[in-house]
Amino acid sequence: MPPASIKKPGSILRVAVAAPLMDAFDYLPPPPASDGCTATPSLLPGQRVLVPFGQGRRVGILLELRATSDQDPARLKTIERLLDARPVLGAADLTLIRWAADYYRQPIGEALFSALPARLRRATPILDEQVPGVSATVAGRTLDLETLRRAPKQRELLTLLRSRPEGIAVADLNARLGPCAATLRSLRARGLLETCRLAAAGPVTPAPGATAGPGPELNADQAEALRRVTAGLGGFSPFLLDGVTGSGKTEVYIRLIEAAAARGAQTLLIVPEIGLTPQLRERLSSRLPDPPAVLHSGLAAGDRERAWHRAASGRAGVVLGTRSAVFVPLPRLGLILVDEEHDASLKQQEGFRYSARDLAVRRAQLVGCPVVLGSATPSLETLNNAQTERYGWLRLPQRAGAACTPRTSLLDIRNQPLQAGLSAVLREEMRTEIAAGNQVLLFLNRRGYAPVLTCHACGWVGECPHCDARLTLHLARRRLWCHHCGWTRPLPDTCPDCKGTDLRMLGRGTERLDEELRPLFPGVGIARLDRDTTRRRGELARLLDEVRRGEVQILLGTQMLAKGHDFPGVTLVGILDLDQSLYASDFRAPERTAQLIVQVTGRAGRAERPGRVVLQTRHPEHPLLQSLLRDGYTGFATTALAERREAELPPFSHLALLRAEAPAAETASAFLNQARLIAEGLAEGHTEEAAEGRAERLAETGVQCYGPVPAPMERRGGRYRAQLLIQSPQRPRLQRFLAGWSVALRALPRSKGLRWSLDVDPQDM
Ligand code: ADP
Ligand code: ZN
Ligand code: ZN
Repeated sequence: MPPASIKKPGSILRVAVAAPLMDAFDYLPPPPASDGCTATPSLLPGQRVLVPFGQGRRVGILLELRATSDQDPARLKTIERLLDARPVLGAADLTLIRWAADYYRQPIGEALFSALPARLRRATPILDEQVPGVSATVAGRTLDLETLRRAPKQRELLTLLRSRPEGIAVADLNARLGPCAATLRSLRARGLLETCRLAAAGPVTPAPGATAGPGPELNADQAEALRRVTAGLGGFSPFLLDGVTGSGKTEVYIRLIEAAAARGAQTLLIVPEIGLTPQLRERLSSRLPDPPAVLHSGLAAGDRERAWHRAASGRAGVVLGTRSAVFVPLPRLGLILVDEEHDASLKQQEGFRYSARDLAVRRAQLVGCPVVLGSATPSLETLNNAQTERYGWLRLPQRAGAACTPRTSLLDIRNQPLQAGLSAVLREEMRTEIAAGNQVLLFLNRRGYAPVLTCHACGWVGECPHCDARLTLHLARRRLWCHHCGWTRPLPDTCPDCKGTDLRMLGRGTERLDEELRPLFPGVGIARLDRDTTRRRGELARLLDEVRRGEVQILLGTQMLAKGHDFPGVTLVGILDLDQSLYASDFRAPERTAQLIVQVTGRAGRAERPGRVVLQTRHPEHPLLQSLLRDGYTGFATTALAERREAELPPFSHLALLRAEAPAAETASAFLNQARLIAEGLAEGHTEEAAEGRAERLAETGVQCYGPVPAPMERRGGRYRAQLLIQSPQRPRLQRFLAGWSVALRALPRSKGLRWSLDVDPQDM
């Protein structure tokens, strides 16, 4: 190829391959088709390509077309072929993902492919652009529906088809009516419908027949929130929707989705966990003309990809997804909602570490649309943005409808006789509520039977051989389990050390509470909700159903209880033991504890019945509990924010955490020590300087380095873990520092067994 043609704009292709590599690579376009008449397909950013890479081939994404390469063009390889006719990611998607990879210092290839359905990481074609559909035949359109009286499902399906003369995708039908293959077969056999092919990117026509339920009339606060966000449609405007549990936030989301849809815009609704909130999905489906496209990791790969295509083709009006949905291509995106924005699971904790909440705000900014962060217990970061008026602050201080706010009281259990961990006062209140036909919720944030198994003779304690942690006893399964690495062993009959037989169980988890409650409350329906009882598919839904039907009077469980479920019959909540978390080392522990208390509290008294919350503690004077009870969450948060400011912690500074782990403690700390020297050297501009004074000069650049120190649990899964903290009062400075530092870190020689990762804006320290 003559060198001149290399200079032509677009003759160098910048490609990110599906591999954890920081860089993209330059390639040459494929040769034109040899028959001379087939048009060469056009090359567009966002297209998937197959490229030679190392010894093999990789799938890549075309990032951009350039005129020149930094490398010798003669040494560039040629891409093998284009995988799709059209880009799988649009220009706006590429911009967001590249920004994210850059901000979080993560490999661009990994970031790009985390935005795509798993199958597209391989050289498979995207699903057929045409999707199978069905439409009513003339006979089907004119049939007297009464003749289908005995076949309600057929009637329902045909009625729907009649409202959509252009046909409906089979996948959409299934999403709306549940599996309906048999019904389709019957209708087809009777000549009432025919199959057709529908354009995947066809126009979005809400079914006129599907009447979205009108919903309640909004109260003044809801109406004001709706008005302010709606006024912002069409441009970037961030909001905090700060509303107590049951204040009608979801109702506001639904109205906002409708307002966006009326302008032809798609809405992206991000939630921390979908598996735990089937109710939200049902509610959206029953209120909106089109069922939401649902995206989360619990779905079968095919379902997930179909939902992804509905979103990416613009057909889906609403996309409901967990954190990775923040990257889903949405050509008509006009509104982003993040529910439970304080929830830690919005942050990905491994691999590509990003915050879906923060990226949602960034995405809204890039697209130019409103973003609403909703919570009853906003994160201190978001609350600070609202207080300083960077975000609009929408408040829903009252419960919607008739529900009233529960009263919370502290119960000092020092010197109190306890049964099953319950004080006499709490037991009495439980009896009263149950006798009145109400339900009681008990919150104990520890699963298993007992957190400690010990030998009364010699003091042996069951510990994990791989972690600095004790083994939890699971009695029903007769095993000891490490909740940190998953290691497990059968329950010993005798002490492994002294062969003594007096093994004792200390402490109480939900399994034990469940067992001990039964004799205390004979004949009372008791259900336990934790990861052990809900492991099997469908089990969570079954338990929730039992509670809703009133077959259960006492519901006990872990923090799964705090996540979004409605328990309208619950009038009393007992919080059994949060004392440990009052004194945890993580600076976010108070915030998380307060959120947990308020979220659990929010489960009580949702309907007409007033609720009551009893918090058992041995530290009734603790300032966190005091401020929470006296001033509510916002009062607590104001105090906590003042403390953060004092201590120069987020949101008043910005953090990055370099974590390292290795089979030997020295390997991890040696790496971090080296990392620290490099950090100090960067401040100097070179690394040969004597050590004295370097830390000070690093600080002068606006960046501080703390550590290395052992991780809170130093040994985990047989590996020693340590960390180095980087702090800066200004985000741009931290970013500038990390850009240089991360490159230098990657250039360090690899020690055996060492793994490290950089976490920007870490959530757990
Ligand atoms: P949140 O999402 O804040 O927990 P929801 O939107 O789920 O609140 O509302 C809580 C309950 O109140 C629901 O049963 C909902 O149907 C009802 N509700 C919401 N808004 C209103 C309103 N304006 N009038 C009457 N009931 C309402
Ligand atoms: Zn012993
Ligand atoms: Zn372990």
